[in-house]
Amino acid sequence: MLNLVLFGAPGSGKGTQSAKLIDKYGLHHISTGEVLRDHIKRETELGKIAQSYIANGQLIPDELMISILDDVLEKEAAGKKGVIFDGFPRTIPQAEALKELLRKRGTDLHAVVGLEVPEEELIERMLNRGKETGRADDNLETIKKRLDVYHNQTSPLKDYYSGIGKYLPVNGSGNIEDIFNNITAGIDKIN
Ligand code: AMP
Repeated sequence: MLNLVLFGAPGSGKGTQSAKLIDKYGLHHISTGEVLRDHIKRETELGKIAQSYIANGQLIPDELMISILDDVLEKEAAGKKGVIFDGFPRTIPQAEALKELLRKRGTDLHAVVGLEVPEEELIERMLNRGKETGRADDNLETIKKRLDVYHNQTSPLKDYYSGIGKYLPVNGSGNIEDIFNNITAGIDKIN
């Protein structure tokens, strides 16, 4: 098993790099943002709850998010070679829950790959993505809120995972292929 978290600020390229990693390592991809956007599209009860948080750039409450992830793991992860978690965990309680969710399935988290990208580049990428895909939270006002949430609630996870020797920082700026090579060089050392 190889279970990885792809970590980074919004716009750091987690989705793009996940798509390439699943091809190379045969892993299953779980993006909590995509799970929520799918609920919104299907107009489920959960989608209605998630929509207001997402539109305000705020995090879905931990308890709800953790139970959603537990369900997704149950439905999708059994028998897979491993999972790439993209967008989860985003808080310390989520990180603790992830450890427990993996432990109860007899496995563990192997590394947290942190994509490090300067803030101006993050904003530029998200504004471009907003234009290209129409993603509703990729507008300047919500982007700024999402970056604040990242700095206040999510970035402490770098120290959390560094402290247990699992944080693998990667330069996430520039060319997609070069970034991918930086990531795989790091993973191949632990794998
Ligand atoms: P993402 O696609 O990962 O950028 O996520 C888009 C939005 O979904 C975030 O701004 C949050 O509102 C929500 N979201 C995604 N993952 C999580 C999570 N692990 N915890 C709380 N909210 C989340």
